[in-house]
Amino acid sequence: MKPHFIDNRAVAGASGQAIAVIDPSTGEEYERIARGNAADIDLAVQAARRAYDEGAWGRLSAAERGRLLLKLAVKVQDHHEELAQIESRDCGKPTRQARADATALARYFEFYGGAADKLTGETLPYAQGYTVLTLREPHGVTGHIVPWNYPMQIFGRSVGGALAAGNACVVKPAEDACMSLLRVAELAAEVGFPPGALNIVTGYGHEAGDMLVRHAGVDHISFTGSPRVGVLVTQAAAERHVPVTLELGGKSPQIVFADADMDAMVPVVLNAIVQNAGQTCSAGSRLLIERSAYEQVLDQVGKAFAALRAGPAAMDLDCGPLIRKTQQERVQGFLRDAERDGIAAVARGVVVSEAPSGGFYQAPTLLRDVPVKHRLAQEEIFGPVLSAMPFDNEADAVRIANATEYGLVASVWTRDGSRALRLSRKVRSGQVFINNYGAGGGIELPFGGVKASGHGREKGFEALYGFTVLKTISIKHD
Ligand code: NAD
Repeated sequence: MKPHFIDNRAVAGASGQAIAVIDPSTGEEYERIARGNAADIDLAVQAARRAYDEGAWGRLSAAERGRLLLKLAVKVQDHHEELAQIESRDCGKPTRQARADATALARYFEFYGGAADKLTGETLPYAQGYTVLTLREPHGVTGHIVPWNYPMQIFGRSVGGALAAGNACVVKPAEDACMSLLRVAELAAEVGFPPGALNIVTGYGHEAGDMLVRHAGVDHISFTGSPRVGVLVTQAAAERHVPVTLELGGKSPQIVFADADMDAMVPVVLNAIVQNAGQTCSAGSRLLIERSAYEQVLDQVGKAFAALRAGPAAMDLDCGPLIRKTQQERVQGFLRDAERDGIAAVARGVVVSEAPSGGFYQAPTLLRDVPVKHRLAQEEIFGPVLSAMPFDNEADAVRIANATEYGLVASVWTRDGSRALRLSRKVRSGQVFINNYGAGGGIELPFGGVKASGHGREKGFEALYGFTVLKTISIKHD
């Protein structure tokens, strides 16, 4: 059984209980992880507290922290293929996606390593005879709850920023995919991160995750996951007045006008929904098409959809399997609803014959004329299903784009620059891509949502503000 990683050591779970690790490509168990409980979380938080309050970590200068992160970036690159293979098997990701995730992980550490000693306060104009300045101080111990869809990437962006800012971290990865993070924590210890700076406790969300949020020694929570759990985490953190960053789901619109460069648009629109088999918070899962170009775009995107293939992660096809059986059943439930309600599939990819029968596969599907209020156009499916719908004009496009509870990412495809900018301002989301799309991409680009997609920002320099507290110091002098 894989142990936790606490205080730079492998630590067996206190309960001795395990959670099975399933390979989504086969449906078979291939490892077991420790089922963390209150004692394990307490041990990890105590280790982080010691590291921050009186240990070597808390005494490092910003430049020294940055240097360690840069070393870790190099170490991750040295272990790039190993980490990609772990992630690919654990999550069922096609290998090239897992490799891209390993590259992104290294890049997060590189970016935040370089940023660590660039984070500064200000001096403020105030009354005569005073000098006032601000300091950006770490929260102390930060708790990080990570989902299963991009373990390495989300770990890198969240922990990278938190460590650069000087916090000590306790991470609770998802029970469905945590193998890569246990390895990265070992690599961090190898490059010289002091004991307690980075700790990992595996386990279930309602157990270890909930205990981490409620632990009195944790000063900030960074949660990435579903809106439902985001509410639970916020409520629990509010009882202790602990700040929370919430990176939640999305139902992101890709808006295509008739004057768009269609040849450039098709592969990008396609990738925005099939990347990671649609299990991406920022997946472009709604395709809004100007009515005059509706049939043409459906035809072009449909042809591309029909050529898609899903299969085992190691075959490195367009889509791997979904993460687990219940996720597969959930996606199939959406498709049954489409059939029941007369929503037609324009095109379907295939699941290849080599796919083991126990794996959790789903053929990519393009649906047309999905009513704006239908659950297919409202809820996060988290599978390779794209819902297309027509719009009449700019105002109509904005109305439909904003007609969900989410607001994470949007794209606008048009050759009219003024229109692209007008729409960018009217669409309610954290990021807008004009004539491109970055599903999960952009280490340097601040990322996060509005409405049910969450609040606070990770990625980019902006994230460092969220991982610090501002202190104002007022000095009276002559
Ligand atoms: P989830 O909310 O079920 O789980 C996410 C994490 O929270 C897991 O580690 C889980 O163990 C933990 N958790 C569950 N219950 C908890 C509780 N009561 N207290 C504390 N922690 C708890 O989500 P999921 O199904 O793993 O991930 C998919 C969701 O995550 C989707 O909605 C997706 O859009 C979202 N997501 C968002 C982003 C983003 O950056 N905005 C990125 C990736 C995924």
